Amino acid sequence: SAKLGDIRPRLAPLTPTAVEQLALDALVRPKRVDRITDLIGNTPLVRLHHIERDCPGVELWAKCEFANPAGSVKDRPALRMMQDALSRGVLAGKRLIDSTSGNTGIAYSMVGAALGVPVTLVMPENVSEPRKQVTSAYGTELIYSDPMEGSDGAIVLARELVAKHPDRYYYPNQYANPSNPLAHYHGTGVEIWKQTQGRVTHFVTGIGTSGTVMGTSRRLRELGEAVRRPVKCIAMQPDDGMHGLEGLKHLPSSLVPGIYDPSVIDDTIWMPTDEGWDMADRLAEREGLFVGHSSGANVAAALRVGRELAEAGQSGVVVTVLCDRGDRYFVPLQWEKHYVW
Ligand code: PMP
Repeated sequence: SAKLGDIRPRLAPLTPTAVEQLALDALVRPKRVDRITDLIGNTPLVRLHHIERDCPGVELWAKCEFANPAGSVKDRPALRMMQDALSRGVLAGKRLIDSTSGNTGIAYSMVGAALGVPVTLVMPENVSEPRKQVTSAYGTELIYSDPMEGSDGAIVLARELVAKHPDRYYYPNQYANPSNPLAHYHGTGVEIWKQTQGRVTHFVTGIGTSGTVMGTSRRLRELGEAVRRPVKCIAMQPDDGMHGLEGLKHLPSSLVPGIYDPSVIDDTIWMPTDEGWDMADRLAEREGLFVGHSSGANVAAALRVGRELAEAGQSGVVVTVLCDRGDRYFVPLQWEKHYVW
């Protein structure tokens, strides 16, 4: 008989049965990848149980783009734009240049470091220290533009540099680059369809370059039409002219992104910035999701859609996007008012 403390005779053999192994395979899938860029995409979809209480009968779900390795929805397009440029040979011997210190700049920096592509970012000298630190940590070269000229000054300087040294710089222009929406067409859209088992009825998200809403909506529409269950796709835009693209309704057509195609969108929701901030607070406090204000605005827009359905006595599965984490905005940014998401 075994003495107390001697557990060896009681141990079952450590090899799981075939059935146990199947169960383990389904439940526990630790990832192992060849390089960090393989961790881009395939992000979780999380249900918003607390927010959902305001639209009974309607499900609210959010795509966790903050789970990408450089922390935002821009990892996907950054990877695809860089891979596309590499495969076309237009990046050979050049540096990728852009005029952003935001999520796109951080994503270019991470992908560039992983793929061995040198990156240069032009940003106003007064951007926050963390933005300078996180981009330069990846080895990115920073060129500062006149702080008095804001983000426009950075755009102008980047374009001047490209025009002056076309042999040194490659400018991907995410506003007109088809690889930007394609990253969401081949990634985000398909993933949402699979994660909801084709039950998604509405997709709502904000517009910066419009890459997310264009690519994801286009794919969800196609998948929905194929099984005759149309998915409604709705764009969210800030209503105060201070964020994002200052509202496409206020813009001269020359400033509308080249990738923007209004036929993909069923509707636009205009969202006051305050409502986005308030929802971001609620998401952190009630859902445990500490996300940025654009994510807050997205969920506020999704809830508006959900409420309308609930009030009409309809059900629905509304999906939106959590673009990045809240800690990316700890430091008040002086140039925030001119900042394009
Ligand atoms: N929210 C945040 C925080 C972003 O950085 C971006 C991308 N610039 C967006 C929303 C909008 O995404 P898109 O450019 O795909 O329209």
